[in-house]
Amino acid sequence: MQNIWLRDGLTSRSFFFRTPLRKNNAGHRGLVTNAQLLPKLHNLSMIDGMKEIVVVGGGPAGCMAAIAAADAAKDACMKVNITLLEQNEKLGKKLYITGKGRCNLTNAGDRDDFFAKVNRNPKFLYSAYSGCPEEEVMQFFEGENVPLKTERGNRVFPESDKSSDIIRCLEKALWERKVDVRLHEKVRELRTFDGRVRSVKTDKRKIEADAVILATGGVSYATTGADGSGFTIARTLGHGLITPVPALAPLITEESFVKELAGLTLKNITATLLEGERIRFSEFGELLFTHTGVSGPVILSGESVIARDLQEGKKFTLKIDLKSALDEKTLDERLLREIGETPNQAVKSLMQRLLPKSLCPFVAAQAKVSEQKPLHDLTKEERQALIRALKGFTLTVMGSAGFSEAIITCGGIPVKEVNPKTMESKKVEGLYFAGELLDCDAMTGGYNLQIAWSTGALAGSSAALKII
Ligand SMILES: Cc1cc2nc3c(=O)[nH]c(=O)nc-3n(C[C@H](O)[C@H](O)[C@H](O)COP(=O)(O)OP(=O)(O)OC[C@H]3O[C@@H](n4cnc5c(N)ncnc54)[C@H](O)[C@@H]3O)c2cc1C
Repeated sequence: MQNIWLRDGLTSRSFFFRTPLRKNNAGHRGLVTNAQLLPKLHNLSMIDGMKEIVVVGGGPAGCMAAIAAADAAKDACMKVNITLLEQNEKLGKKLYITGKGRCNLTNAGDRDDFFAKVNRNPKFLYSAYSGCPEEEVMQFFEGENVPLKTERGNRVFPESDKSSDIIRCLEKALWERKVDVRLHEKVRELRTFDGRVRSVKTDKRKIEADAVILATGGVSYATTGADGSGFTIARTLGHGLITPVPALAPLITEESFVKELAGLTLKNITATLLEGERIRFSEFGELLFTHTGVSGPVILSGESVIARDLQEGKKFTLKIDLKSALDEKTLDERLLREIGETPNQAVKSLMQRLLPKSLCPFVAAQAKVSEQKPLHDLTKEERQALIRALKGFTLTVMGSAGFSEAIITCGGIPVKEVNPKTMESKKVEGLYFAGELLDCDAMTGGYNLQIAWSTGALAGSSAALKII
């Protein structure tokens, strides 16, 4: 357990750990702090004037940080000014496009499932996740009158299928807590004195601050505001940076024929990414051909596993098992049966009974078998070659589609420079981090937003409890 220093020099044990799901003093559900249990101790810090917390970034992490800070201050019967600065004209521009506009806001799997799906630095997230796990996120939104539903793979969405409902809910929660939301205001610099954050310089003014929460996101989908300015700000203050690379991005393939297949979705396939002979990723699911390569759930997940290696120029091949449900022996038996039943038909007809029509010529070409050949002329070797192509249709990976199409940024603020129990910087007192700008990322399925909510909630409550 960690000590938190109050302004008057008293210490208290672990105020920031939130107790799950009860109504706080403000009457809001969730985001309750143990500070509620210690109002007298907190009142000792009331001798000081009004404190100021500035949250930089109005994405999910920043909004949740501001909400948690307000609740923590309220529970401690303290008045704290909370200002949220967002450079865009509205909050949650990226949140709006999540889950194809439906917002897969979390995953209803359990703790083990969550940590299994975090690709980078899962241990760093233990405290943040424990304080605000998926059920607390779900109860927070449902408590704010946003009904949710759980779909295949435990993916949680608003019942309305509208990400705008999640954004509206956050706006309302901020308004109710009197957070001063400033849009169209970009933070340029943070100023420190004596190792402590003191002020925030924006393109409009200077704000004195007792604590600052940086929640500026990564660098993917830059049009949503993810311009990497948070990385620059943190670096100026002495923080390092794990080189950002695009993750959960489509793959570009050497084979240009993919453009002829663009738009084709393959269900129930197994995609395997090989580095030489070594299997780096293998998953059953859905794949989509694009004009330059492949995308879809299994590809995005696979790309996030090899994201850093791709940037380093390592070579990968993608093998697609187009007939996952059948092992080679069963597939061979099926081919023999079909050949026996329709010996005068061409290979093309057989292929079209097994695969989407547009894919057949490319699979036959990979097997080096003419599509026009009558089935009765097919040799055993040719049949075996067809089976190999069906069970391992091969594409050469040239790289990822880059930040413009990456769902998340892999890399960011090194977690060893951040206290995992509070999200406070180990280099600058009073500076906190939350969300995607941290070097933590996960698979698709709602886990990345869960990281944003959890780290945002912890950063917000820690910042409030530090300064009151
Ligand atoms: C197409 C797409 C679909 C996705 N779908 C899902 C999904 O369904 N489920 C899921 O879990 N994850 C999804 N993600 C990932 C998820 O959106 C991110 O993990 C999440 O938005 C990160 O939250 P954040 O608050 O850290 O950053 P962001 O959402 O990027 O918010 C950061 C905010 O900070 C602002 N900002 C930056 N710099 C400054 C500055 N200097 N001054 C002021 N403001 C600044 C930005 O304008 C931005 O609004 C998706 C991502 C994309 C691109």
